[in-house]
Amino acid sequence: MGAFLDKPRTEKHNLHAEGNGLRYGLSSMQGWRVEMEDAHTAVLGLPGPGMTDWSFFAVYDGHAGSRVANYCSKHLLEHIIMCPANLGAGGTQGSQASSDSSACDSPTLVPPPTVETVKSGIRSGFLKIDEHMRSFSDLRNGMDRSGSTAVGILLSPDHFFFINCGDSRAVLFRNSHVCFSTLDHKPCNPRERERIQNAGGSVMIQRVNGSLAVSRALGDFDYKCVDGKGPTEQLVSPEPEVFEMARAPEQDQFVILACDGIWDVMSNEELCEFVKSRLEVSDDLERVCNEVVDTCLHKGSRDNMSVVLVCLPNAPKVSEEAVRKDAELNKYLESRVEELLSRPGEEGFPDLVAVMRILSTDIGMPSLPPGGGLASKRSVIEAVYNRLNPYREEDGSGAELEYHW
Ligand code: MN
Repeated sequence: MGAFLDKPRTEKHNLHAEGNGLRYGLSSMQGWRVEMEDAHTAVLGLPGPGMTDWSFFAVYDGHAGSRVANYCSKHLLEHIIMCPANLGAGGTQGSQASSDSSACDSPTLVPPPTVETVKSGIRSGFLKIDEHMRSFSDLRNGMDRSGSTAVGILLSPDHFFFINCGDSRAVLFRNSHVCFSTLDHKPCNPRERERIQNAGGSVMIQRVNGSLAVSRALGDFDYKCVDGKGPTEQLVSPEPEVFEMARAPEQDQFVILACDGIWDVMSNEELCEFVKSRLEVSDDLERVCNEVVDTCLHKGSRDNMSVVLVCLPNAPKVSEEAVRKDAELNKYLESRVEELLSRPGEEGFPDLVAVMRILSTDIGMPSLPPGGGLASKRSVIEAVYNRLNPYREEDGSGAELEYHW
């Protein structure tokens, strides 16, 4: 289990792009953990004939090191695509079967892979990359005992393929509600427990052999060496669950992929409502993802945090009314902080935590962002506080240490 820092590392890694009718943004933050073990993948337009209008996104939450998470973020997709008889190879066979021998790269001549082909390609890609990583000497000899969850989405023009191995999670927001979410692989789930016990293990304190909190993962080879059992029958299995769903362009709004550092402090509904409300205020997807990560930090997440937001053509749009309301809320908060700092109470000058506590019971407060609450406005509050605080230390570290109020 990871150790914690004295204060969180709040620098963020960001990325955004658009293509294939999608826009995506992502944000990740190390937070309170001593190491950053999360990784991610975002690819618009897959390599291989006939796949240019497909896209792939994933979040990996590493444990006991970042080696497996990092390797998967760079190579899982190619293992999925390159699996013989699967996605990429299907393309080659398609062009051989066509009468036009000169245009083997022409996407129009390649029959799209069937849903079943894609699903089995994803499954074999996971098993193959796991088998491949087992051959790395540091992972084989136990010098490196790392493992990683993987949650992803593969989008074709017609389908979503939600992919999950472990306890990171993907959700689809459609028709303004949470329409689908992947199911976390926890050792206590009946199916997981049965496999663990069949492999000679046990589930204690909700962990595999009392130690690992997740029952499916890539890597974690310490948990994958039971004699006489296949790769998907071990204490920890690299087998993903894949759910396909037809896209509904009129109704589909966005997909969120995130690790447990996010889901520990926000429910599916809370996060989706919060993202929806932010998308009505800004079309800057990095900014929206940064607000998610900051909000989760302020809600008390102690883990690494990663979030990928994929906006579909019918995602919420910026509305003038929402922008105006958000600006009014910020103004209100600023004036309240100014007021609280202008006339110190009996206990003297309030610290930031006291200010947050007072604001959390403020009856005149305009409505706060759904799902985010006051935590999502902590940065706004903190900025005014720091500007006005006469005792502020120059490095700005004055009142930052306490994250609960
Ligand atoms: Mn985590």
